[in-house]
Amino acid sequence: MSWYKRTEKGIVTPTEEKLEVPDGLWHQCPNCKKIMQVEEHAASCYVCPACNYHDRINSKEYFEVLFDDNAFVELGENLTSGNPLDFVDTQPYPNRIVSSQKKTGLKDAVRSGVGKINGMDVTISCMDFRFIGGSMGSVVGEKISRAIDHSRKKKIPFIMISKSGGARMMEAGFSLMQMAKTSAKLALLDKEGLPYISILTDPTTGGVTASYAMLGDFNISEPGSLIGFAGPRVIRETIGKDLPEGFQSAEFVLEHGFLDFIVDRKEMKKKLSDLLGMLK
Ligand SMILES: [Zn+2]
Repeated sequence: MSWYKRTEKGIVTPTEEKLEVPDGLWHQCPNCKKIMQVEEHAASCYVCPACNYHDRINSKEYFEVLFDDNAFVELGENLTSGNPLDFVDTQPYPNRIVSSQKKTGLKDAVRSGVGKINGMDVTISCMDFRFIGGSMGSVVGEKISRAIDHSRKKKIPFIMISKSGGARMMEAGFSLMQMAKTSAKLALLDKEGLPYISILTDPTTGGVTASYAMLGDFNISEPGSLIGFAGPRVIRETIGKDLPEGFQSAEFVLEHGFLDFIVDRKEMKKKLSDLLGMLK
């Protein structure tokens, strides 16, 4: 019975080897399980240095990655949602908005900023998946429309970073109208000869794919992103067939002609400034 007995008394780890690390200093890659320091992860644009897994990030991090010196002016930052349909599911819609705002520190599922990418002025709108699944409601549509209008007014390019589960169910028809509204604004931008680059990140689905996300002069994605319209289960049940391997991955979507390229996040800023330089 001696196999579970300590052979040495007490705890023998020397004090200098006891790592007192507070929570939040380490990041574990969800794909390859490599553990790295949070700073190291951030320095590599939130991409795993071992397996190139692109972690899901939000507007705060994308603005950090793209804007020169993380300097930008936010547009329409105080817009918040109404409750046009008096919608109640497990809780009234306004309560859900307030609790999401408290949880995330965001006002809604998109933020827009004006700043520079390698010295070039741009407007960027970036969605936040943490806010009700990055769903597109009236506020998202309005903020994107205003960002496009800002680009038109200043005659500068517009960049959209999508990350969304699609329409916001609690706004039903109002949510669907945002598809037409943002598409119409993009048509005006196009008419005025201003560039629009769409970046589809993990995941981009539903009404967002079916409107502004796929309307770029360039449609770009990051490796391994999920891009689709309806989910795989719905499609499988509708067509009654099994789906091919890798269905709805960025790589599959690129191969089938819906994307122009897949760009590593660490290369994204350079790629954007090269493209915008060409389009000037
Ligand atoms: Zn990894």
